[in-house]
Amino acid sequence: MDPVGIAAAPDAGPGPAWQSKCPWGAPNTTSISCSLADVMSEQLAKELQLEEENAAFPEVVAVAEGPFITGENIDTSSDLMLAQMLQMEFDREYDAQLRREEKKINGDSKVSISFENYRKVHPYDSDSSEDEVDWQDTRHDPYRADKPTTTPRKGFIGKGKDITTKHDEVVCGRKNTARMENFAPEFQVGDGIGMDLKLSNQVFNALKQHAYSEERRSARLHEKKEHSTAEKAVDPKTRLLLYKMVNAGMLETITGCISTGKESVVFHAYGGKSATEDKVIPPECAIKVFKTTLNEFKNRDKYIKDDYRFKDRFSKLNPRKIIRMWAEKEMHNLTRMQNAGIPCPQVVILKKHVLVMSFIGQDQVPAPKLKDVTLSSEDMKKAYYQILNMMQQLYKECNLVHADLSEYNMLWHDGKVWLIDVSQSVEPTHPHGLEFLFRDCKNVSQFFQKGGVSEALNERELFNAVSGLNITADNEVDFQAEIEALEKMNEDHVQNHGKKLSVFSSEGDPPIYDE
Ligand code: ADP
Ligand code: MN
Repeated sequence: MDPVGIAAAPDAGPGPAWQSKCPWGAPNTTSISCSLADVMSEQLAKELQLEEENAAFPEVVAVAEGPFITGENIDTSSDLMLAQMLQMEFDREYDAQLRREEKKINGDSKVSISFENYRKVHPYDSDSSEDEVDWQDTRHDPYRADKPTTTPRKGFIGKGKDITTKHDEVVCGRKNTARMENFAPEFQVGDGIGMDLKLSNQVFNALKQHAYSEERRSARLHEKKEHSTAEKAVDPKTRLLLYKMVNAGMLETITGCISTGKESVVFHAYGGKSATEDKVIPPECAIKVFKTTLNEFKNRDKYIKDDYRFKDRFSKLNPRKIIRMWAEKEMHNLTRMQNAGIPCPQVVILKKHVLVMSFIGQDQVPAPKLKDVTLSSEDMKKAYYQILNMMQQLYKECNLVHADLSEYNMLWHDGKVWLIDVSQSVEPTHPHGLEFLFRDCKNVSQFFQKGGVSEALNERELFNAVSGLNITADNEVDFQAEIEALEKMNEDHVQNHGKKLSVFSSEGDPPIYDE
């Protein structure tokens, strides 16, 4: 039973927007459009600002190591947590041992073998964030010893009275002992060879049987674990983080899963009490867990490699850190929006790849996405003007382009529109920032024009209204070309002068990022 009541994620509702129907019309993984490069550029540009925001937003809800203050089943939950921590510690030690053996065997040899498959703590659930993850995936079995010398077909070797048959007890026994080396490394076979142990066929076969079934069992367990990671993103590490939040009293209960997407899983939780006086935890929270599976990020790798700015610097960046950066980016973007007064979730706390924010909705029922509500024409019109306003605010006050704006990432709550899902949002001067904005504008225009809002600007007018730019092209192709030319101009300028142009700033005031 789950002590904190993380309800098993039901095969929750519709997936994220771009999964069920890609609003950009390009249903492939590249719709995770804006990439690591953004994260990186943001990251680079913002190191100082992050510090500042961090100071204003420290991880105040420190995890209490002391008494566990919530839940009826206090004992079980803390015991389980301790057990999990111990197990993790144990697994880590086991892996360290494996690594030592690996090193010993490989030495300076050019060809190396890896025990990767036998590791217990896999990169995505390990916490030693300092290690660089090694992408190599060797299926090489390190314990596959050289084939034991076989007895020739005829069934015996030697001559005359020195003849030994394949049934020779001593030879056979030694051979059996040596063959035990082929068992998986977690199967402790001891130093049979060293003590000249001779195993009878019967004993060997029994051991072999056992070793194989053990191996299969552990493979099954492992598979299960991996599966759950992919499905619900609650791998042991994440669980532990969630347990800690509940145990610290910050969250009252985690009730269940609201959404499962390709990159994140969102849970609903009831808020608890803050460790500090000045911070109030909202009564209902949404917990966005960024998935820690590596597969996605192997694909994203190219975004960094292709970006001249990050070639050297990020080629070896630890993927787990990258995932955390997405979460961090969402937090900072939400904070900026909050400061500008744009309706959006309020950040409660960020812990590694887990972002807790206020829940938009009530009594565990999330507010519907704009695509799922039927609004009166009056509300529709109101929503349109509100969004136009928010897009301008986002651009001018937050210096952001949403970059995944559509009826899938806007919620209707309390008679107004709320913006969510901003981990991919970028600054307008991002190498593709204006293209993203244009895409956002297309989505918004289309949605409202179809929705019968006659006042809705077309995408080009909307783009100009939001950016303050004055692109005059009257057709999409030319418009797009002008946008790309602007972006290129900016990039060239960055390459030559290491600084962003202020072409995107409508009123000619110095952009914030030029400081
Ligand atoms: P992604 O689309 O990348 O999976 P989102 O941030 O869009 O992630 O979240 C997925 C879904 O979870 C949203 O469509 C929304 O239904 C729900 N959701 C996310 N954040 C909140 C929140 N703060 N309050 C209520 N529901 C939320
Ligand atoms: Mn979304």
